Amino acid sequence: MARIDHAVSSGTFSLDGETFDVDNNIWVIGDDTECVVIDAPHSVDDIMAVVGDRKVKAILLTHAHDDHCRVAPALRERVVAPIMLHPADKPVWELTHTDELWDLDLADGTEIEVAGTTLRVLHTPGHAPGAVCFYAPELGCVFTGDTLFHGGPGATGRSFSDADLIVESIRTQLFALPDDTVVHTGHGDDTTIAAERVE
Ligand SMILES: [Zn+2]
Repeated sequence: MARIDHAVSSGTFSLDGETFDVDNNIWVIGDDTECVVIDAPHSVDDIMAVVGDRKVKAILLTHAHDDHCRVAPALRERVVAPIMLHPADKPVWELTHTDELWDLDLADGTEIEVAGTTLRVLHTPGHAPGAVCFYAPELGCVFTGDTLFHGGPGATGRSFSDADLIVESIRTQLFALPDDTVVHTGHGDDTTIAAERVE
């Protein structure tokens, strides 16, 4: 039976010449033997504290801002698992990682199996061109990265983002999910699709 484990990792986010302190959520979905990791922010040790001695099947990135992908290559080396990213985020990835790439491309509709459950990729461009959400129908939740937060859409003021597109992505992809779907975000508290529909 798949479960969700969670930790918060602290570090910085840099873009367009500015740097901010941020707390990032790390989400780990799996059972006692295998798991996948959603986002690889600041510290491999913070992630491994949640993973334990389980086999990591994949490192899934919601997008390639540095506070979500900085330690992805180091984690890959530690656990020997593929990094998966939507290829539209290549220019964003290259701001952080100039000499190495991810391993497998995500696309809208990609399905990832772990611990007998399925994560389905929803391409939700706007916050970043390759931003995706991972919908877990059997777990009744969606992992939204920085596309949808408790209280509204993610930021779109910086390079590679698009305010109209994020609203369109949320409307067509996320608001199509059942009302009681729990939203696990990239930063901060959980919410639900119903609560954000009202916002
Ligand atoms: Zn971001």
